[in-house]
Amino acid sequence: MTIYNFSAGPATMPAKVIQQIKADLPSYNNSGMSVMEISHRSALFDKIIDDAAIDLRELLQLPDNYQILFFQGGCTLQFSAAPLNLANKYHRIALLDSGHWAKRAQAEAQLVDVKVDVLASTAEKNYTELPVLKDLPQNKYDYLHITTNNTIEGTAYSKLPETKGTELVGDMSSNFLGQVYDMKKFGLVMAGAQKNLGIAGLTLVIVRNDLIGQVKNLPSMVDYDLFAKKNSMFNTPPVFAIYTAGLVLKWLKEQGGVAEMQRRNLQKSGLLYDFLDNSELFIAPVAKQDRSLTNVPFVTGLPEVDAKLIAQAADNGLVNIKGHRLVGGMRASLYNAMPYEGVEKLVDFLNKFEKDYRGTH
Ligand code: PMP
Repeated sequence: MTIYNFSAGPATMPAKVIQQIKADLPSYNNSGMSVMEISHRSALFDKIIDDAAIDLRELLQLPDNYQILFFQGGCTLQFSAAPLNLANKYHRIALLDSGHWAKRAQAEAQLVDVKVDVLASTAEKNYTELPVLKDLPQNKYDYLHITTNNTIEGTAYSKLPETKGTELVGDMSSNFLGQVYDMKKFGLVMAGAQKNLGIAGLTLVIVRNDLIGQVKNLPSMVDYDLFAKKNSMFNTPPVFAIYTAGLVLKWLKEQGGVAEMQRRNLQKSGLLYDFLDNSELFIAPVAKQDRSLTNVPFVTGLPEVDAKLIAQAADNGLVNIKGHRLVGGMRASLYNAMPYEGVEKLVDFLNKFEKDYRGTH
């Protein structure tokens, strides 16, 4: 039975990439060493990390005045690293509270003594829609933090908020390379790799040159300027995760790039949303205009029915559709590597489940 993995992260990877890893594993590039064994101070690894950066720059159409940095520590570390590096003028940032990960970003910034003003929140709507920025006072904030895609709540910005002069920082963890954004609109973007870029252990930071190097004596592992100067190799980088990201990026280029991914993600999520919106059993709670292309939460409102559904889905090879514990119900994550057939299978299954349910209720 084919297994379709709808996990929110770590998440399904392209089958072709897994095959490539398998083939490469005993001896990388005929070196007689596994990529797990090679030094990061080797020509072999230099090529891996440099190629990954070149491919990423091409895929994102990233201008030369942006750095691509490879970190460990997850996006969670970046929630404090970004304010430590960038909040150096006003020591105050603005934030749009769109859910759990925005709140986490707020908390971590506060831990490093940066003030955080929440300018809009949709907490009272259970985050089923995005907060709207009404007024952003100028010359007050070092940047505005947004979460471009809310992995748990299932919302995503298709249009970025207008910040006028204020820098924009985006946590793009769950729609990085899955949705087209104009990178020039951001001062900084952060994204964990374990959704659309391979495996856990690697976090990307993309930052405009003029924003770094302004704070001295930062702890080395969060110092963007130091990482830029050391080609992300101040210490031992996550070699295997960077190698894997490189393979995913090559796969992405072969598939037609980010615009093509967005087209497919729209198609996949559209299939599922259409079904849910026409269902009498399931509800997709997110407001239509704010729906994520990559994370689709849905509920029946009946916890015991949800539990039965999740178990039956797994028996049918549709795994990890349990919703996040904060939201409950179900969630299907449809990242780049999830094929259209996987979503078709899911919709067929949900359709049958609904018919069976109605037959007995
Ligand atoms: N931001 C978003 C939008 C996320 O989805 C996640 C992880 N699911 C994080 C931040 C935290 O990432 P990490 O676990 O890599 O620190």
